[in-house]
Amino acid sequence: MNKNIDPVCGKRINVNKAHIVIHFEGEDYLLCCPQCQKEFETQPRKYARKKQKNKGR
Ligand SMILES: [Zn+2]
Repeated sequence: MNKNIDPVCGKRINVNKAHIVIHFEGEDYLLCCPQCQKEFETQPRKYARKKQKNKGR
């Protein structure tokens, strides 16, 4: 169960083999390589998972 998805390239990554883990807005994102890291850091909001917020309150 140590699998995660690289949000930039969409690859599945083993946590132990990830290039880096970036913490962004309370979530962890695994990046597979320096290129994906750079891309994520350039536009983190483009790749970050959007939190579901309850509306109507
Ligand atoms: Zn990648």
